Amino acid sequence: MTNITDLGIAALRDGVAKGAFSATEVATAFNAAVEAAQPALNAFIVTTPEKALEAAARVDADRAAGKPLGKMAGVPIGMKDLFATRDVQTTAASKILEGFKPQYESTVSQKLWDAGAGMLGKLNLDQFAMGSSNETSAFGNVISPWRRPNDTTPLAPGGSSGGSSAAVAARIAPAATGTDTGGSIRQPAAFTGISGIKPTYGRCSRWGVVAFASSLDQAGAMAHDVTDCAIMLEAMAGFDPKDSTSLNMPVPDWAAALDADMKGKKVGIPREYRLDGMDPDVAKSWDDGIAWLKDAGAEIVEISLPHTKYALPTYYIIAPAEASSNLARYDGVRYGLRDLPEGAGLQDMYAATRAAGFGPEVKRRIMIGTYVLSAGFYDAYYTQAQKVRTLIARDFTKAFEQVDVILVPTAPSSAFALGEKSADPLEMYLNDVFSVPASLAGLPAMSVPAGLDRNGLPLGLQVIGKAFDEQGVLNASLALEQRAQFSAQNGSRPEKWW
Ligand code: GLN
Repeated sequence: MTNITDLGIAALRDGVAKGAFSATEVATAFNAAVEAAQPALNAFIVTTPEKALEAAARVDADRAAGKPLGKMAGVPIGMKDLFATRDVQTTAASKILEGFKPQYESTVSQKLWDAGAGMLGKLNLDQFAMGSSNETSAFGNVISPWRRPNDTTPLAPGGSSGGSSAAVAARIAPAATGTDTGGSIRQPAAFTGISGIKPTYGRCSRWGVVAFASSLDQAGAMAHDVTDCAIMLEAMAGFDPKDSTSLNMPVPDWAAALDADMKGKKVGIPREYRLDGMDPDVAKSWDDGIAWLKDAGAEIVEISLPHTKYALPTYYIIAPAEASSNLARYDGVRYGLRDLPEGAGLQDMYAATRAAGFGPEVKRRIMIGTYVLSAGFYDAYYTQAQKVRTLIARDFTKAFEQVDVILVPTAPSSAFALGEKSADPLEMYLNDVFSVPASLAGLPAMSVPAGLDRNGLPLGLQVIGKAFDEQGVLNASLALEQRAQFSAQNGSRPEKWW
């Protein structure tokens, strides 16, 4: 008898449609798994078992009535707590939003419910999605379900979508939403041995998603495998007149067009990503990936993305600049926390509320952002960064005249221990070195598991594609997945200790 919680989106949906099990049985099984794991993993900020059951009951009733079922019918998912969910606390993992219950639903979450998915709860994350380890949450660290062999040191699940990655890797949610501003879907997916796709900027509506850096923020899917990511992304994507940067393009049927045959395709390998002192296991997994795509029929082409080394500093100017502006709205007047000291005036209330409500990383970003936008420094930093951003995007445009997709590692290492990098923000930022270039260029990019490193921890490979070519990204990722031999079936999943 299969264990329901071992199954992913496609298997659950098809099982429900066939009547192998009911949606209610599925929701019940995952609700129990969530409850059992919550004390150890802290993947959720709030759990909503009743929401999962309500959605399941609707699917079971529709099936009984012979009504057509949605793409995600009967699949309960975790929702990153950056998506506004009606009447359910939405915090961005910040104290400043504690207790905030939106009166509206984000477009992406609404689309998922319309497709028949249910909600297991709101997933923990780095505060306002700022971080790479899930250590900046005001609701405690998420603990990765992965451990080094014979070692109980708690490891980071990656960030900012660390609750999402931990929950999917631990099989307490078959899939979860993520958001990616500079790597927050791909890096946590890599750290936990799951798959995650960030689509082209504009594919998924940002309406109702707590804003971090609006020109970079994109929602995406995190799931067991490439097929499940394709299915879920289809349910999430689509034009939304409520988001001025939403792409007005049809959403292709990505899952149906999946094809791992890479014959006639060219894969670019950018030499600038081969950094001095690169972790030998990461370098080896990259070489493995190259060999796998060759085996799938692709031609490998060395390419150059000359401005790569400027991507990280550019990102860490643009993202904080936008964040400082976006986060100005948390002032104690409109949402969540209000700190109004005795006899205080309006300015004092702003200051007290923001001092008490924002965590140290968020304050750091606001200060950097305000600095680079200030009159004396605007041109030297912000304008300059915008120009370099264009050069980075142009590097990709040129490269894609030669190749169909680009293959690089997702992150410079496997998961690190909690506390290992949190004292040094720069060291934490370096973790994003391979993920931010695609974000700055607005391109679709996906991380798939590549195998385990010398510490027995997962590594990810990243496929970057042309704008709007999620299909190309998914297809190359599928070719990698089929050769990486990394699956729950062959034991490539965390041993259960929680
Ligand atoms: N780690 C990056 C940061 O801290 C990316 C975060 C994200 O993609 N949301 O900004």
